[in-house]
Amino acid sequence: NAPLIEAKDLVRTYEVRQGMFGKATPVRAVDGINLSVMPGETLGVVGESGSGKSTLGRMLLGIDPSQEGETFFEGKPMPKLGTPEWRALRAKMQLVYQDPLAALDRRLTIAEQIGEPLAIHKLVPKEHRGTRVAELMVAVGLRPDQADRYPHELSGGQRQRVVIARALASRPKLLVCDEPVSALDVSIQAQVVNMLRDLQEKNGIAMVFISHDLKVVRNMADRVAVMYLGRIVEEASSDVIFAAPLHPYTKALVSSVPVPGKPLKGRVILQGEPPNPANRPSGCAFHPRCPLATDICRASVPPLRQVADGRTAACHLVAGVDQPVAA
Ligand code: ATP
Ligand code: SF4
Ligand code: MG
Repeated sequence: NAPLIEAKDLVRTYEVRQGMFGKATPVRAVDGINLSVMPGETLGVVGESGSGKSTLGRMLLGIDPSQEGETFFEGKPMPKLGTPEWRALRAKMQLVYQDPLAALDRRLTIAEQIGEPLAIHKLVPKEHRGTRVAELMVAVGLRPDQADRYPHELSGGQRQRVVIARALASRPKLLVCDEPVSALDVSIQAQVVNMLRDLQEKNGIAMVFISHDLKVVRNMADRVAVMYLGRIVEEASSDVIFAAPLHPYTKALVSSVPVPGKPLKGRVILQGEPPNPANRPSGCAFHPRCPLATDICRASVPPLRQVADGRTAACHLVAGVDQPVAA
Protein backbone atom coordinates (compact mmCIF):
# COMPACT_ATOMS: atom_id res chain seq x y z
CA ASN A 1 0.00 0.00 0.00
CA ALA A 2 2.05 2.94 -1.30
CA PRO A 3 1.31 6.58 -0.51
CA LEU A 4 -0.04 8.79 -3.26
CA ILE A 5 1.98 11.70 -2.01
CA GLU A 6 4.88 11.73 0.38
CA ALA A 7 6.73 14.76 1.69
CA LYS A 8 10.09 14.63 3.41
CA ASP A 9 11.55 17.35 5.56
CA LEU A 10 9.64 20.22 4.00
CA VAL A 11 10.95 23.65 4.93
CA ARG A 12 9.75 27.07 3.82
CA THR A 13 11.57 30.18 4.90
CA TYR A 14 10.15 33.66 4.37
CA GLU A 15 12.15 36.84 4.67
CA VAL A 16 10.22 38.91 7.17
CA ARG A 17 10.91 42.56 7.97
CA GLN A 18 10.40 43.57 11.58
CA GLY A 19 8.79 47.02 11.48
CA MET A 20 9.05 49.37 8.54
CA PHE A 21 12.82 49.88 8.62
CA GLY A 22 13.84 46.67 10.28
CA LYS A 23 16.24 44.19 8.75
CA ALA A 24 14.71 41.29 6.87
CA THR A 25 15.26 38.08 8.78
CA PRO A 26 14.52 34.54 7.66
CA VAL A 27 11.52 33.03 9.38
CA ARG A 28 10.59 29.37 9.09
CA ALA A 29 6.87 29.10 8.39
CA VAL A 30 7.15 25.37 7.69
CA ASP A 31 9.92 23.78 9.68
CA GLY A 32 10.71 20.19 8.82
CA ILE A 33 7.46 18.43 7.99
CA ASN A 34 7.15 14.78 7.00
CA LEU A 35 3.80 13.71 5.70
CA SER A 36 2.15 11.16 3.49
CA VAL A 37 -1.32 10.74 2.07
CA MET A 38 -2.66 7.41 0.86
CA PRO A 39 -4.79 7.13 -2.29
CA GLY A 40 -8.39 8.06 -1.52
CA GLU A 41 -7.60 9.11 2.04
CA THR A 42 -8.51 12.42 3.67
CA LEU A 43 -5.87 14.01 5.83
CA GLY A 44 -7.12 16.89 7.97
CA VAL A 45 -4.60 19.62 8.81
CA VAL A 46 -5.47 21.82 11.77
CA GLY A 47 -3.78 24.52 13.81
CA GLU A 48 -4.19 28.18 14.65
CA SER A 49 -3.74 31.01 12.19
CA GLY A 50 -0.08 31.37 11.24
CA SER A 51 0.84 27.75 11.94
CA GLY A 52 1.80 27.21 8.29
CA LYS A 53 -1.17 25.23 6.97
CA SER A 54 -1.59 27.11 3.69
CA THR A 55 2.15 27.20 3.09
CA LEU A 56 2.27 23.42 3.59
CA GLY A 57 -0.72 22.88 1.28
CA ARG A 58 0.99 24.67 -1.60
CA MET A 59 4.23 22.80 -0.98
CA LEU A 60 2.48 19.44 -1.24
CA LEU A 61 1.60 20.36 -4.83
CA GLY A 62 5.12 21.55 -5.54
CA ILE A 63 3.89 25.00 -6.54
CA ASP A 64 6.05 27.03 -4.19
CA PRO A 65 9.24 28.00 -6.02
CA SER A 66 11.15 28.45 -2.74
CA GLN A 67 10.20 25.24 -1.02
CA GLU A 68 12.90 22.96 0.36
CA GLY A 69 12.67 19.25 0.98
CA GLU A 70 11.42 16.40 -1.15
CA THR A 71 7.99 15.44 -2.43
CA PHE A 72 7.10 12.20 -4.13
CA PHE A 73 3.98 11.54 -6.18
CA GLU A 74 3.18 7.85 -6.58
CA GLY A 75 6.68 7.07 -5.42
CA LYS A 76 8.46 9.28 -7.97
CA PRO A 77 10.18 12.55 -7.14
CA MET A 78 7.98 15.52 -8.03
CA PRO A 79 9.26 17.10 -11.26
CA LYS A 80 10.62 20.64 -11.13
CA LEU A 81 8.07 23.45 -11.11
CA GLY A 82 7.13 24.61 -14.61
CA THR A 83 8.61 21.68 -16.58
CA PRO A 84 6.36 19.76 -19.02
CA GLU A 85 6.47 16.74 -16.65
CA TRP A 86 5.31 18.93 -13.79
CA ARG A 87 2.52 20.41 -15.91
CA ALA A 88 1.28 16.95 -16.82
CA LEU A 89 1.25 15.95 -13.18
CA ARG A 90 -0.36 19.22 -12.12
CA ALA A 91 -3.67 18.10 -13.65
CA LYS A 92 -3.66 15.25 -11.12
CA MET A 93 -3.28 17.59 -8.14
CA GLN A 94 -5.71 20.41 -7.60
CA LEU A 95 -6.03 23.19 -5.05
CA VAL A 96 -9.29 24.64 -3.81
CA TYR A 97 -8.87 27.58 -1.51
CA GLN A 98 -10.95 29.95 0.50
CA ASP A 99 -11.81 32.69 -1.98
CA PRO A 100 -13.62 31.42 -5.08
CA LEU A 101 -13.81 34.86 -6.67
CA ALA A 102 -10.02 35.10 -6.72
CA ALA A 103 -9.77 31.62 -8.23
CA LEU A 104 -12.15 32.39 -11.09
CA ASP A 105 -11.67 34.56 -14.15
CA ARG A 106 -14.45 37.12 -14.01
CA ARG A 107 -14.54 37.47 -17.81
CA LEU A 108 -15.34 33.81 -18.39
CA THR A 109 -18.71 32.10 -18.08
CA ILE A 110 -19.12 29.12 -15.82
CA ALA A 111 -19.02 26.73 -18.75
CA GLU A 112 -15.80 28.34 -20.00
CA GLN A 113 -14.15 28.16 -16.57
CA ILE A 114 -14.99 24.50 -16.14
CA GLY A 115 -14.14 23.69 -19.75
CA GLU A 116 -10.74 25.38 -19.62
CA PRO A 117 -8.76 22.55 -17.96
CA LEU A 118 -10.40 20.09 -20.35
CA ALA A 119 -8.96 22.10 -23.24
CA ILE A 120 -5.58 22.93 -21.69
CA HIS A 121 -4.82 19.35 -20.74
CA LYS A 122 -6.53 18.03 -23.90
CA LEU A 123 -8.67 15.74 -21.79
CA VAL A 124 -11.88 15.66 -23.80
CA PRO A 125 -12.29 16.16 -27.57
CA LYS A 126 -13.87 19.50 -28.36
CA GLU A 127 -17.19 18.07 -29.50
CA HIS A 128 -17.70 16.30 -26.16
CA ARG A 129 -16.62 19.17 -23.94
CA GLY A 130 -20.11 20.62 -23.49
CA THR A 131 -21.45 17.30 -22.28
CA ARG A 132 -18.59 16.85 -19.82
CA VAL A 133 -19.02 20.41 -18.49
CA ALA A 134 -22.75 19.81 -17.96
CA GLU A 135 -21.94 16.54 -16.18
CA LEU A 136 -19.49 18.31 -13.88
CA MET A 137 -21.98 21.08 -13.14
CA VAL A 138 -24.62 18.57 -12.14
CA ALA A 139 -22.08 16.68 -10.01
CA VAL A 140 -21.41 19.80 -7.90
CA GLY A 141 -25.08 20.74 -7.66
CA LEU A 142 -25.23 23.50 -10.28
CA ARG A 143 -27.99 23.65 -12.86
CA PRO A 144 -26.82 23.29 -16.47
CA ASP A 145 -28.94 26.33 -17.36
CA GLN A 146 -26.49 28.41 -15.28
CA ALA A 147 -23.71 27.62 -17.73
CA ASP A 148 -23.68 31.04 -19.38
CA ARG A 149 -23.56 33.04 -16.18
CA TYR A 150 -20.50 34.93 -14.95
CA PRO A 151 -18.93 34.55 -11.51
CA HIS A 152 -20.36 37.84 -10.19
CA GLU A 153 -23.87 36.61 -11.01
CA LEU A 154 -23.55 33.73 -8.57
CA SER A 155 -23.65 33.36 -4.80
CA GLY A 156 -20.47 32.55 -2.90
CA GLY A 157 -21.54 28.95 -2.50
CA GLN A 158 -22.28 28.57 -6.21
CA ARG A 159 -18.90 30.09 -7.08
CA GLN A 160 -17.13 27.60 -4.86
CA ARG A 161 -19.08 24.83 -6.61
CA VAL A 162 -17.72 26.13 -9.92
CA VAL A 163 -14.18 26.07 -8.51
CA ILE A 164 -14.69 22.49 -7.34
CA ALA A 165 -16.14 21.42 -10.71
CA ARG A 166 -13.14 22.98 -12.42
CA ALA A 167 -10.77 21.18 -10.06
CA LEU A 168 -12.53 17.87 -10.73
CA ALA A 169 -12.49 18.35 -14.50
CA SER A 170 -8.99 16.92 -14.85
CA ARG A 171 -9.88 13.86 -12.73
CA PRO A 172 -7.34 14.65 -10.01
CA LYS A 173 -5.94 12.05 -7.65
CA LEU A 174 -5.26 14.67 -4.98
CA LEU A 175 -7.32 17.63 -3.91
CA VAL A 176 -5.83 20.11 -1.44
CA CYS A 177 -8.70 22.08 0.08
CA ASP A 178 -7.52 25.10 2.06
CA GLU A 179 -10.41 26.39 4.21
CA PRO A 180 -12.78 25.69 1.30
CA VAL A 181 -15.92 26.85 3.09
CA SER A 182 -14.62 29.42 5.59
CA ALA A 183 -15.65 32.36 3.41
CA LEU A 184 -19.13 30.99 2.77
CA ASP A 185 -22.35 31.66 4.58
CA VAL A 186 -22.55 29.37 7.62
CA SER A 187 -25.93 28.10 6.42
CA ILE A 188 -24.45 26.58 3.26
CA GLN A 189 -21.06 25.42 4.60
CA ALA A 190 -22.36 21.96 5.48
CA GLN A 191 -23.92 21.49 2.03
CA VAL A 192 -20.66 22.29 0.26
CA VAL A 193 -18.59 20.17 2.63
CA ASN A 194 -20.91 17.18 2.24
CA MET A 195 -20.87 17.53 -1.51
CA LEU A 196 -17.08 17.63 -1.46
CA ARG A 197 -16.92 14.50 0.65
CA ASP A 198 -19.38 12.61 -1.54
CA LEU A 199 -17.52 13.50 -4.72
CA GLN A 200 -14.20 12.60 -3.17
CA GLU A 201 -15.45 9.21 -2.00
CA LYS A 202 -17.20 8.43 -5.26
CA ASN A 203 -14.11 9.25 -7.32
CA GLY A 204 -11.54 7.85 -4.90
CA ILE A 205 -9.70 11.16 -4.65
CA ALA A 206 -7.20 11.71 -1.85
CA MET A 207 -7.74 14.94 0.00
CA VAL A 208 -5.77 17.24 2.24
CA PHE A 209 -8.40 19.20 4.11
CA ILE A 210 -7.02 22.29 5.81
CA SER A 211 -9.32 23.96 8.29
CA HIS A 212 -9.44 25.68 11.63
CA ASP A 213 -12.98 24.32 12.08
CA LEU A 214 -12.45 21.08 13.99
CA LYS A 215 -16.10 20.11 13.77
CA VAL A 216 -15.79 19.96 9.99
CA VAL A 217 -12.44 18.19 10.14
CA ARG A 218 -13.86 15.49 12.40
CA ASN A 219 -16.61 14.92 9.87
CA MET A 220 -14.25 14.84 6.88
CA ALA A 221 -10.89 13.41 7.83
CA ASP A 222 -9.63 9.85 8.19
CA ARG A 223 -6.44 11.10 9.77
CA VAL A 224 -5.50 14.43 11.34
CA ALA A 225 -2.20 16.29 11.58
CA VAL A 226 -2.02 19.07 14.17
CA MET A 227 0.38 21.91 13.37
CA TYR A 228 2.01 24.38 15.71
CA LEU A 229 4.50 26.96 14.44
CA GLY A 230 5.37 25.14 11.27
CA ARG A 231 5.72 21.68 12.79
CA ILE A 232 3.47 18.71 13.28
CA VAL A 233 2.96 18.17 17.00
CA GLU A 234 0.53 15.27 16.79
CA GLU A 235 -0.83 12.98 14.14
CA ALA A 236 -3.34 10.14 14.43
CA SER A 237 -6.55 8.79 13.01
CA SER A 238 -9.40 11.23 13.32
CA ASP A 239 -11.29 9.03 15.82
CA VAL A 240 -8.26 8.76 18.06
CA ILE A 241 -7.34 12.46 17.90
CA PHE A 242 -10.82 13.54 18.92
CA ALA A 243 -11.42 10.82 21.51
CA ALA A 244 -8.02 10.76 23.20
CA PRO A 245 -5.65 13.56 22.20
CA LEU A 246 -2.16 13.31 23.73
CA HIS A 247 -0.44 16.62 23.08
CA PRO A 248 -1.54 19.46 25.39
CA TYR A 249 -2.09 21.69 22.36
CA THR A 250 -4.35 19.12 20.69
CA LYS A 251 -6.17 18.66 23.98
CA ALA A 252 -6.90 22.37 24.09
CA LEU A 253 -8.08 22.47 20.47
CA VAL A 254 -10.24 19.38 20.80
CA SER A 255 -11.76 20.48 24.10
CA SER A 256 -13.48 23.36 22.35
CA VAL A 257 -15.33 21.15 19.87
CA PRO A 258 -18.90 20.49 20.91
CA VAL A 259 -20.07 16.88 20.84
CA PRO A 260 -23.78 16.62 20.01
CA GLY A 261 -25.81 15.80 23.11
CA LYS A 262 -22.93 16.37 25.53
CA PRO A 263 -22.22 19.50 27.58
CA LEU A 264 -18.88 21.19 26.88
CA LYS A 265 -17.06 19.91 29.92
CA GLY A 266 -13.41 20.37 30.76
CA ARG A 267 -12.86 23.00 28.12
CA VAL A 268 -9.24 24.17 28.00
CA ILE A 269 -8.86 27.82 27.07
CA LEU A 270 -5.59 28.56 25.31
CA GLN A 271 -3.72 31.25 27.19
CA GLY A 272 -1.10 33.64 25.91
CA GLU A 273 -0.06 35.00 22.56
CA PRO A 274 -1.00 33.18 19.38
CA PRO A 275 2.14 31.76 17.80
CA ASN A 276 4.38 33.89 15.60
CA PRO A 277 7.15 32.22 13.60
CA ALA A 278 9.23 35.40 13.79
CA ASN A 279 9.40 34.84 17.51
CA ARG A 280 9.76 31.13 18.13
CA PRO A 281 10.03 30.20 21.81
CA SER A 282 12.96 28.01 22.87
CA GLY A 283 12.54 24.28 23.40
CA CYS A 284 8.96 23.19 22.89
CA ALA A 285 7.45 26.12 20.97
CA PHE A 286 4.18 25.62 22.83
CA HIS A 287 5.76 26.00 26.28
CA PRO A 288 4.69 29.62 27.01
CA ARG A 289 1.07 28.51 26.69
CA CYS A 290 1.28 25.00 28.06
CA PRO A 291 -0.23 24.34 31.51
CA LEU A 292 2.15 21.39 31.97
CA ALA A 293 5.44 23.05 30.93
CA THR A 294 8.55 22.31 33.00
CA ASP A 295 12.23 23.25 32.70
CA ILE A 296 12.98 20.64 30.09
CA CYS A 297 10.22 22.06 27.89
CA ARG A 298 11.97 25.43 27.82
CA ALA A 299 15.36 23.86 27.17
CA SER A 300 14.86 21.18 24.57
CA VAL A 301 12.69 20.55 21.52
CA PRO A 302 10.57 17.43 21.97
CA PRO A 303 11.03 15.13 18.95
CA LEU A 304 8.01 13.84 17.08
CA ARG A 305 7.89 10.29 18.41
CA GLN A 306 5.94 7.31 17.33
CA VAL A 307 3.52 6.60 20.16
CA ALA A 308 1.60 3.72 18.62
CA ASP A 309 0.87 2.38 15.17
CA GLY A 310 0.04 5.35 12.93
CA ARG A 311 0.24 7.72 15.83
CA THR A 312 2.87 10.35 16.64
CA ALA A 313 3.22 13.15 19.18
CA ALA A 314 5.90 15.69 20.08
CA CYS A 315 5.75 16.33 23.82
CA HIS A 316 8.21 15.55 26.59
CA LEU A 317 5.36 14.11 28.64
CA VAL A 318 4.31 11.60 26.01
CA ALA A 319 6.40 8.44 25.81
CA GLY A 320 7.31 6.98 22.45
CA VAL A 321 7.22 3.27 21.70
CA ASP A 322 10.99 3.16 21.98
CA GLN A 323 11.79 6.29 23.95
CA PRO A 324 10.70 7.02 27.51
CA VAL A 325 9.30 10.32 28.80
CA ALA A 326 12.11 12.86 29.29
CA ALA A 327 13.20 13.17 32.90
P1 ATP B 1 -4.33 30.89 8.50
O1 ATP B 1 -5.08 29.96 9.40
O2 ATP B 1 -4.42 32.30 8.96
O3 ATP B 1 -4.67 30.73 7.06
P2 ATP B 1 -1.93 29.35 8.05
O4 ATP B 1 -1.79 28.27 9.06
O5 ATP B 1 -2.47 28.99 6.73
O6 ATP B 1 -2.77 30.54 8.69
P3 ATP B 1 0.31 30.41 6.58
O7 ATP B 1 -0.52 31.30 5.74
O8 ATP B 1 0.89 29.22 5.95
O9 ATP B 1 -0.48 29.98 7.89
O10 ATP B 1 1.46 31.29 7.20
C1 ATP B 1 2.44 30.79 8.08
C2 ATP B 1 3.36 31.89 8.50
O11 ATP B 1 4.11 32.34 7.39
C3 ATP B 1 2.63 33.12 9.05
O12 ATP B 1 3.37 33.62 10.13
C4 ATP B 1 2.66 34.09 7.92
O13 ATP B 1 2.73 35.41 8.39
C5 ATP B 1 3.94 33.71 7.20
N1 ATP B 1 3.81 33.99 5.76
C6 ATP B 1 2.94 33.37 4.92
N2 ATP B 1 3.08 33.83 3.66
C7 ATP B 1 4.09 34.76 3.72
C8 ATP B 1 4.73 35.59 2.76
N3 ATP B 1 4.38 35.54 1.48
N4 ATP B 1 5.72 36.40 3.19
C9 ATP B 1 6.09 36.44 4.48
N5 ATP B 1 5.54 35.68 5.42
C10 ATP B 1 4.55 34.86 5.07
FE1 SF4 C 1 3.77 21.22 27.16
FE2 SF4 C 1 6.28 20.50 27.62
FE3 SF4 C 1 4.70 18.90 26.23
FE4 SF4 C 1 5.56 21.18 25.19
S1 SF4 C 1 6.81 19.44 25.74
S2 SF4 C 1 3.51 20.40 25.10
S3 SF4 C 1 5.55 22.51 26.97
S4 SF4 C 1 4.47 19.47 28.38
MG1 MG D 1 -4.10 29.59 5.63
